Amino acid sequence: MSPGQNDTAGERIAIIGAGVIGCALAWALAREGRRVLLIDRAEPATAGASFGNAGHIACEQLEPLPCPAVLRTFWRELTLFGGAVDLPVHRWVALAPWLARFVQAAFRQGRNTPALAALVAPAADALEAALREIARPELLVRHGHYALWLGPHAAARAARTATAAHALGVRTEPAPRELLQAVRTPGGTRDAAGLHYPDSGHVIDPRQLAVALAGAALQAGAVFRQAEVQELTPLGARVGVRANGQMVSVAAAVVCAGVQSTPLLARFGVPAPLTAERGYHLEMANTPPLIDAPVLHAEHNIIVTPMQGRLRATSYLEFERHGAPPDPRKIARLRARLTELGYTCAMPHAGWVGSRPTLPDYLPGLGRAPGEAPLFYAVGHQHLGLTLAVPSAHVMAALVAGRPPPLDARPFDLMRFGTARTAHR
Ligand SMILES: Cc1cc2nc3c(=O)[nH]c(=O)nc-3n(C[C@H](O)[C@H](O)[C@H](O)COP(=O)(O)OP(=O)(O)OC[C@H]3O[C@@H](n4cnc5c(N)ncnc54)[C@H](O)[C@@H]3O)c2cc1C
Repeated sequence: MSPGQNDTAGERIAIIGAGVIGCALAWALAREGRRVLLIDRAEPATAGASFGNAGHIACEQLEPLPCPAVLRTFWRELTLFGGAVDLPVHRWVALAPWLARFVQAAFRQGRNTPALAALVAPAADALEAALREIARPELLVRHGHYALWLGPHAAARAARTATAAHALGVRTEPAPRELLQAVRTPGGTRDAAGLHYPDSGHVIDPRQLAVALAGAALQAGAVFRQAEVQELTPLGARVGVRANGQMVSVAAAVVCAGVQSTPLLARFGVPAPLTAERGYHLEMANTPPLIDAPVLHAEHNIIVTPMQGRLRATSYLEFERHGAPPDPRKIARLRARLTELGYTCAMPHAGWVGSRPTLPDYLPGLGRAPGEAPLFYAVGHQHLGLTLAVPSAHVMAALVAGRPPPLDARPFDLMRFGTARTAHR
């Protein structure tokens, strides 16, 4: 089919990528009566980060990660020293431009926090409302989550964290004694302290959540097509989508392709300096949770979430190339740490690795490309894509409709990174 030729996709809005961001947007547009064409090379939420995340609705994470304190102390978190951050030496040259922007962003955290907070703070309520609307409220559990510290400095660390949370307006309360007693401490000592964050939540299966949103979109008239999108092209006031070798012209397109969004946007002059910030998970069946909520083991950067029929433990920030094979040492270390913490990790789960799509300032990219062609994007949701899927979808549905978004979306415009030519991977 040639560009511009009429086809069944003609008046549709194409969404490229059926991770949780694309699925939530498909639902938000379809419920407004828009004709949606959702495209992914794989079944919804199977190929990207949306399949394997921690399931935490992290409404407490109001601050973007880059800040002066992280610049001073990140080295302590490197895997080299037993931490969760891996910056492999063979990636230093490729990562240098991204890291330079990260350093710049560290000095803008104060300015960037209100923008991120406006999206994140209402996220659990927004997800709850969306799930009620699609009649799947059971997918979200609103028991909050817990952070635990072990060892002689545990109480001081918990107190410092509570003070910092309070300064941001995030509610915390001491974790219950039964939880502190249930966790195994190093050397069997009873030094444990913890906080409960009552306003967060978790989903019982991240993939099911995305599939439920996509299903609601399909019921409202959206169409799903399994295809690889090779290229997007401006066609006057329309957009050409070349998928599986065929070009179709659509009324508008939204790029939601996770860490692989950069080349799809370049043609429109939109810079998306995304990097793959990879995380791992292991699952444990037939293991009861310590409590019915995610538990963050803070020193180890491991979060253990009760999911349907199993526990899922996630960890690591590995700045490896997207698509590189998983590092078996990380999976083995995660398994060993979980066993130390008292979890039963006997099941031979092979482990999973996925790429968080992360921009150097840890704000998402939400907006419209400059120019006549109606090309939009919802990318770069870093550690918060599950949390932000519904709030971002509401912003994007407004931008696509040409009405004012529910919050100031200007800080999320990708043109903040200059031009596509000056941005880099
Ligand atoms: C270990 C781990 C734990 C996490 N924990 C949490 C958490 O607890 N809470 C939270 O809020 N967030 C969490 N996240 C982050 C969250 O998972 C991501 O931000 C989110 O899944 C990103 O969604 P996405 O739809 O943008 O990308 P993805 O889920 O990666 O989806 C992108 C989709 O685009 C498709 N695609 C790409 N290119 C093309 C193309 N050319 N043609 C066709 N299809 C294409 C891919 O096949 C894929 O399905 C975690 C991430 C990881 C890795």
